[in-house]
Amino acid sequence: MTSSPPLVPPPRLLMGPGPITAHPRVLQAMSQQLVGQFDPAMTGWMNDTMDLYRRVFRTANEQTFLVDGTSRAGIEAALVSLLEPGDRLLVPVFGRFGHLLREIGERCGAEVHTIERPWGEVFDVEEITSAVARVRPKVLALVQGDTSTTMNQPLAGLAEALAGDDVIVYCDATASLGGNELATDAWGLDVVTAGLQKCLGGPSGSAPITVSPRAVELVQGRRHVEAGIREDRDTARGTRIASNYLDLAMLIDYWGPRRLNHHTEATTMLYGARECARVLLDEGLDESVERHRLHGAAMLAGVQGLGLSVFGDQAHKMHNVVAVEIPDGVDGDAVRAGMLTDYGIEIGTSFGPLHGRVWRIGTMGWNARRDAVLTTLATLEQVLREAGAAVTAGGGTGAAREVYAG
Ligand SMILES: *Cc1c(COP(=O)(O)O)cnc(C)c1O
Repeated sequence: MTSSPPLVPPPRLLMGPGPITAHPRVLQAMSQQLVGQFDPAMTGWMNDTMDLYRRVFRTANEQTFLVDGTSRAGIEAALVSLLEPGDRLLVPVFGRFGHLLREIGERCGAEVHTIERPWGEVFDVEEITSAVARVRPKVLALVQGDTSTTMNQPLAGLAEALAGDDVIVYCDATASLGGNELATDAWGLDVVTAGLQKCLGGPSGSAPITVSPRAVELVQGRRHVEAGIREDRDTARGTRIASNYLDLAMLIDYWGPRRLNHHTEATTMLYGARECARVLLDEGLDESVERHRLHGAAMLAGVQGLGLSVFGDQAHKMHNVVAVEIPDGVDGDAVRAGMLTDYGIEIGTSFGPLHGRVWRIGTMGWNARRDAVLTTLATLEQVLREAGAAVTAGGGTGAAREVYAG
């Protein structure tokens, strides 16, 4: 007998920038029994998952699969596999996750160039393409939706503007996928990675990735023989990929028809990732984006209706998260704690230059829902009132209801 009680999580409504409350279908899928990783049932689900994520990413890329690990594992797999020491990398930075791409690029030994925008703004496509023309990078790595600032970087038109440059474009779509438009092939993105804990309505721990044929060719050129596992001749042209676990060439051999043993597939995460995609595609990609737009608009109108200000260029806000300025004289952490302990609702804090300045409130995945929005707004009003802040009575839910009434 152990004295530790069983794990019973407190009921919570997670309305921060991720993770969010998981969709019940995803939790149910994740409670299913294991099968061996080369069981035909399992390899069938792996193939099925690849196909589902091709649709989610809007791509025909054969190499579309899961990296086992949180979203950051997908980001690292992409960058460590694409970049050799000395390669030039260009990162447009407009928030925390741009800095992460830069930092990972440095660890890969790349020669990293950045262009920067103040937090709360995005780049014109033209600024990015002229930097590409100047730096001539092998890889352009950018974030689509940066939850640290709530901004959504426009990417449409980038590929046309880059035509002629043979730059490989990598995009971190973790926070935006499913809640904002993303078209991998139409936008000419070579490698896109994501995670489950934002608009996909799952837990963190799996990183869907899609890799274009020319990016596949690049990483496969760096494939080296792994002693004891592979009999193939060592045909590597470039330097060996510095990570074994995150080596995309090996992951491709593992997910592809060769099924060369690599790591033990994280079965339960695959069940979850597969169900996230099924939930999304059952609803419809366009419908999901529209739902995130609607509930994000209601949350935005609601916080403004309470008399609060929002941060950043609202014309480029992601649908699924809003940054709300903490009113003068109000202790932001105390308000968050009050919402959590008294009402069971979690909203987010912020990093870097926004720390202590804004709360981040998400409406994503399963929680991009009318009752979740209205409950959060009613609670925020109450907690702000308790904190002595001036708020417009009923202004939050009232303004959100007007959005819903169209
Ligand atoms: C939330 C988020 C991540 C999360 O990475 P994890 O490794 O899953 O914590 C990555 N990138 C962006 C842009 C995000 O918003």
